[in-house]
Amino acid sequence: MYNVVIIGSGCAGLTAAIYAARANLKPLVIDGHEPGGQLTLTTMVENFPGFPEGILGPELIDNMRKQAERFGAEFKSGAVSEVDLSRRPFKIVAGKDTYESKTLIVAAGASARLLGLPSERHLMGRGVSTCATCDGYFFRGKPIAVVGGGDTAMEEAVFLTRYASKVYLVHRRSEFRASKIMLDRARANGKVEFVTPAVVDEILPHPSGHVGSVRLRNPETNATTELELEGVFVAIGHDPNTIVFRGKLDMDPNGYLISLNGSKTTVPGVFVAGDVQDHRYRQAVTAAGSGCMAAMDAEKFLEEHNE
Ligand code: NAP
Repeated sequence: MYNVVIIGSGCAGLTAAIYAARANLKPLVIDGHEPGGQLTLTTMVENFPGFPEGILGPELIDNMRKQAERFGAEFKSGAVSEVDLSRRPFKIVAGKDTYESKTLIVAAGASARLLGLPSERHLMGRGVSTCATCDGYFFRGKPIAVVGGGDTAMEEAVFLTRYASKVYLVHRRSEFRASKIMLDRARANGKVEFVTPAVVDEILPHPSGHVGSVRLRNPETNATTELELEGVFVAIGHDPNTIVFRGKLDMDPNGYLISLNGSKTTVPGVFVAGDVQDHRYRQAVTAAGSGCMAAMDAEKFLEEHNE
């Protein structure tokens, strides 16, 4: 029986683990299907306070994990497939194991959204990627496309110019959601060519079985064009990892968990932190802050229940 089980090992979950461990609660962290969360898929983080020169996302996460372990947090790998929140202790199933816990912190984060084309799934790992940091190296000297018009798309497009011979930035509108500074950086990069408005209608394979081209459609004229390239990075946002909580915790129409009065939920003893409940700020530092709040709320809950 655990005092606190934390679902998710990104910035929010690890910060919750540091706080809960330092409060002597011996938390268990269940890693999830993307251990370390989204920071492990990014490069330089320049806006996390305390690092004037920036820090690599994976390094920041690694440091947080070591910090949590130092105070006694326990880690298990595996994704949670089922939870029973109808009574306490809560039951959490991950793989073949079932854990019981007096409190639960849900910090399961959000995952990359896909375009929804069958070819996209088929060619995933064969030229299609959702992670520039992980896969950029494979596209040295090759032309590629980044799809999306937000900060992620701009960041990935600029990052990928390190490797690719050319980066087409494909976006369905001619206006961008990205912040001006990120957009300006991408526009100033000679290797990035903006293709807008353009919808990816199909990703077409090369005879080798890898990505060979994309068929683009101008949504205003319906005219189609084909771009020869070898990689497609899908950077169109994220969806919260909340399927297992459907019908068990309150969510908004997009599936983000709803937090009340800090990190609380409608189920006493269940707390939420990070991107799983935040579609607005989605920053490492806000995720860390909410992880701290959730651990403090869990601690207070246990105290109030003399547990
Ligand atoms: P986002 O801001 O939600 O942007 C998603 C983009 O993908 C939008 O341009 C959207 O187009 C497009 N899109 C969505 N679904 C699509 C589909 N099915 N087909 C084609 N295009 C589609 O997501 P994000 O860029 O991942 O950013 C998320 C948050 O993280 C933001 O708050 C952002 O500021 C932050 N962030 C910050 C940094 C940084 O500061 N270093 C880096 C990355 C992310 P429409 O615009 O037409 O809807």
